[in-house]
Amino acid sequence: MSISSGLIQVALPVPLYRLFDYRASFPLPAIGCRVKVPFGPQLLVGVVTAHPETSDLPESKLKPITEILDQTPLFDKTLWHLLRWAADYYLHPEGEVLHHALPILLRQGEAALSKPIPYWCLTEDGESAESLLKRAPKQQLAIRLLADGPLPAAELREQGVDSPVLKNLEQKGFILPYDIRAQLQNWHEQFLLHEDDAHYLNEEQAAALSTIKFAENARPFLLEGVTGSGKTEIYLQLIQDVLSKGRQVLLLVPEIGLTPQLLRRFRRRFHAPILTLHSAMNDRERLDTWLACKNGEAAVLIGTRSAVFTPFKSLGLIIVDEEHDTSLKQQEGFRYHGRDLAIMRARQEQIPIILGSATPSFESLHNALTGRFHHLTLKKRAGNAQTASQHVLDVKHVPLNAGISPQLLQLMEQELRNGNQVMLFLNRRGYAPALLCHDCGWVASCPHCDAYYTWHQSDNRLHCHHCDHIRAVPHTCPECHSHQLVSAGVGTEQLGAFLQQHFPAYKTIRIDRDNTRRKGELEQHLSAIRQNEYQILIGTQMLAKGHHFPDVTLVGILDVDAALYSTDFRATERLAQLYVQVAGRAGRASKPGRVILQTHHPENALLQDLVNNGYHHFARTSLQERKALSLPPYSYQAVLKADAIHRDFVSQFMEQAATICSGYGAPDLSVIGPITPLMEKRAGRFRMIILLQCNSRKHLQHYLHQLIPAINQITTHHSLRWHLDVDPVDIM
Ligand code: ADP
Ligand code: ZN
Ligand code: ZN
Repeated sequence: MSISSGLIQVALPVPLYRLFDYRASFPLPAIGCRVKVPFGPQLLVGVVTAHPETSDLPESKLKPITEILDQTPLFDKTLWHLLRWAADYYLHPEGEVLHHALPILLRQGEAALSKPIPYWCLTEDGESAESLLKRAPKQQLAIRLLADGPLPAAELREQGVDSPVLKNLEQKGFILPYDIRAQLQNWHEQFLLHEDDAHYLNEEQAAALSTIKFAENARPFLLEGVTGSGKTEIYLQLIQDVLSKGRQVLLLVPEIGLTPQLLRRFRRRFHAPILTLHSAMNDRERLDTWLACKNGEAAVLIGTRSAVFTPFKSLGLIIVDEEHDTSLKQQEGFRYHGRDLAIMRARQEQIPIILGSATPSFESLHNALTGRFHHLTLKKRAGNAQTASQHVLDVKHVPLNAGISPQLLQLMEQELRNGNQVMLFLNRRGYAPALLCHDCGWVASCPHCDAYYTWHQSDNRLHCHHCDHIRAVPHTCPECHSHQLVSAGVGTEQLGAFLQQHFPAYKTIRIDRDNTRRKGELEQHLSAIRQNEYQILIGTQMLAKGHHFPDVTLVGILDVDAALYSTDFRATERLAQLYVQVAGRAGRASKPGRVILQTHHPENALLQDLVNNGYHHFARTSLQERKALSLPPYSYQAVLKADAIHRDFVSQFMEQAATICSGYGAPDLSVIGPITPLMEKRAGRFRMIILLQCNSRKHLQHYLHQLIPAINQITTHHSLRWHLDVDPVDIM
């Protein structure tokens, strides 16, 4: 090698478990800087991971880099460690992990230089404009949102207010672009509080707060507090403490779209830049937010799971709200758990981390009960709201109409007549989960999946909920040509249609993925509900997340049995979480709510425990059961999943993989499978899994690091895809 050049090792975004050596001239780009390098016929953006002394490649094969993109590293030391640790722990190619952690523009080679983040604020005229805009609901919404102070354009977009609306308001002189730069640059010196909103903490809250503030060791805190017990108030007071020291805060939430009230509360409390990362942002806005955190300009960052990879100049606290929510786990590509990485990051940064939930995950609860986490509980509601009363309704031998029992209909009628709202949960979109032939029993199923089509009445088509395939409804049975095609089962559409007809005096609204696709649509529905435009609310799980419905006094959960008898051992945990979340969000002090669970199995022990003794007790009973069965959190799992266009390709690969795993001879490793999932074929691909389970996390990690390189050597058909999911939340 020439005197003027040296070696660098580079991580590239390719699905290979290795790093690549290149030549670069002195001074070498620092570790953690991006470089552009030739890779086959293309140029790729990679990250420098080391300055090795020697290379396995002969000198003639070492290519020079094309360009150095950063003068200083993009990652600080702890984040760098976290990412490399995560690549190792999840056994995911390091280049892809580093790539994943960067905003898209940086992945594409854009300079790491910030531009001003677009913000809007009201003008003096704008402050009284709301009533002038009666005929322009979007404009009116914008004015209402901005009444609390300036907002980023991206957040307005998230709520359904896009740039034509803003331009229009600007022309009318109601709003102005707002320059956030001054606030970004000075907040630590002039950190201000809008004190009036802060509450005096009650005893439980005060005790929790001081435990967190004065804790001597670095264990994470699990803050288990019923909905409305004042967890968020504790967060706010802790954040205040951290900000007043000039340090930054990261708050992870399941979904930003569902938290506008939370954001409003934060902005009202702190006169400091509170930035968000969410799906409505464009690439430029993401990069600028990322840089503002890195440069110490953002005081608080609120974001979904990937926000855990944001660099901070001086991070002082991490909070994971709704820590039980499975959306914190990435389910494709680099399959990490946002909560678990947050815990690791806090440990490396030596800063406190709070995991908050009314219904902690069994994993976190187990950690708290065994002393690995500090356990803080809030049992009382902070305001004066009451918890809903809870009932199991036996529907055995009872005629159901669209899945509803006559008793529940009667209760609904009472509440509706008293001017209250009613909310029903059914975790099935569409009109009916199957269309079948009454004469021969033929069922319309998706040609690409082992699944029935769901019949949607809104567009009168058959939808596959597993591959999104859509087709017309056949006029006759393709088997026997009968015209007697009938639907079976009940989805939210059918439930809605039935209730609309049964209660013509009241208005029904559905909240599910089908009618909340567009930006701002969910928020519009919710605000209409709060204004009592609808009295009957029907939803899937998504209706339960993060919203408070004070006028809802009756909640019905209709498909409890599916969860009780699911093959997924986590199904009852999820049902209990849904149940507690909705029980906590309905009703208010003057109007206590009631929750009804409809079931064919009222005697089910878990159900009885949940209803009679509450989540806390239910969770402990369930943990005993998991322990007896050696299921997580008493064991650790990783699942190897493979799929291909032919069954044989998958089974050949999986047989070999299973032989490697079993042949390894680890006495404490259970190798379960290859198993064919109930839905073997999905989106035209045949699937199989192997479940690996071990009572020691350390041992499992050790085995995986031996097994995966060997599995990686198996020659496969080119259509075969496989991946490993460590700590899976969904095995099938
Ligand atoms: P959580 O996050 O646990 O659901 P919040 O912090 O949102 O609870 O509190 C629920 C409600 O009670 C909010 O309206 C909040 O303003 C109010 N609240 C919280 N703490 C207190 C307190 N110490 N005194 C009076 N009201 C409080
Ligand atoms: Zn037929
Ligand atoms: Zn399908």
